Amino acid sequence: MLTVDLHNHSTVSDGMLPPREVVARAAARGCTLFALTDHDDVRGLDDAADEAAKCGMAFVPGVEISVSWRRHTLHIVGLGFDPKNAGLLAGLASVRSGRDERAVRISEALAARGIPDTLVGARKFADNPEMIGRAHFARHLIERGIAKDMKGVFKKFLAKGKPGYVAHEWATLADAVGWIRDAGGIAVIAHPGRYEFGKQTMLELIEEFKAVGGEGIEVVSGSHAAADFERFARLAEVHGLFASAGSDYHATGEGAREPGVLQDMPPGPTPVWLRWQAAA
Ligand code: AMP
Ligand code: MN
Ligand code: MN
Ligand code: MN
Repeated sequence: MLTVDLHNHSTVSDGMLPPREVVARAAARGCTLFALTDHDDVRGLDDAADEAAKCGMAFVPGVEISVSWRRHTLHIVGLGFDPKNAGLLAGLASVRSGRDERAVRISEALAARGIPDTLVGARKFADNPEMIGRAHFARHLIERGIAKDMKGVFKKFLAKGKPGYVAHEWATLADAVGWIRDAGGIAVIAHPGRYEFGKQTMLELIEEFKAVGGEGIEVVSGSHAAADFERFARLAEVHGLFASAGSDYHATGEGAREPGVLQDMPPGPTPVWLRWQAAA
């Protein structure tokens, strides 16, 4: 059992609990080292750090940056950076700035397929107005009874190729990794087992990621099947990447994931958290 969890969401992005409550929930479950990694925004980190201190749990600042790479959307987690770094903050603001216009296009795409008036309803689920995303549309469609659960609503309406999916240009890989590094952090490829490309493309991604300064990859993830743990542990080892672990917790009741405690890391790769554990 691993009591390190370096990937979590709050109401600052598309999680359902405020930062303090996610932190307290992880601590109550026995977590010893925790990172809040909201999509494209760091405004939850002050509260999260303060709550973690109150709970006696070591805390690492984090973020999950949306990236467009070739024809794919990737997520790059940043860990252990200075949350006040001006370049990082400006970069994240530029990524967020496209989300509102994208939300309008999502609502138009859904309307064209017979589901009108989703924008206002989706916005109600977005606590942070700059961070409206697909999960907020998903919750709105479930509330309207148009879909049963998160898995179903993505599969039917919001995943790539489905009626409510629209293409969008996020950060470049080099920019996202650069912002994290320049702020003193470590860049990690999030949930690599979820990307829909083959082995060769994965190797090309790892090479390019390392070339622009990336250093880690998630091995144990709530977004991974058990078979992915072994596969990405080997890839981390072979390519000299630090191995990370995170629940990717968003909300209780939307699937089985809970924050704070994870399955063990397979032996082999170097865990990314050793440096913060030593400091804690
Ligand atoms: P966005 O950044 O707005 O495109 O939203 C991406 C988020 O949607 C992810 O971080 C997940 O929270 C959620 N998501 C994406 N695909 C799925 C899926 N198949 N099932 C459940 N949630 C998903
Ligand atoms: Mn999410
Ligand atoms: Mn992600
Ligand atoms: Mn995530």
